[in-house]
Amino acid sequence: MGGVELMAHWPATAKFKDGTVMHIVYSGTVDVCFSKLCNAEEELCFYWESLDDNEPTSKCEHNEEEVIIQTPFDSWTAKACRKCNNLTANLRLPEM
Ligand SMILES: [Zn+2]
Repeated sequence: MGGVELMAHWPATAKFKDGTVMHIVYSGTVDVCFSKLCNAEEELCFYWESLDDNEPTSKCEHNEEEVIIQTPFDSWTAKACRKCNNLTANLRLPEM
């Protein structure tokens, strides 16, 4: 990876109920996941290098599904849309 400014970013996963695991980036600096879902860790690396915006780019009418977010630190339930490969809700650990 390299680059001091990237040190606060961690690889994380989003697991769908059917067992599909997508790869995401978690920012430890602001305790939030970036919304993009990647199919493979290699794809995640490309995305990692161009982490500029955290906004979904498509005009998708989200078909939301429940996913389990797993970061190196925590795990929680969120929502994601496979059609546009984006997390749609609960990008950060919900307050108890
Ligand atoms: Zn969508």
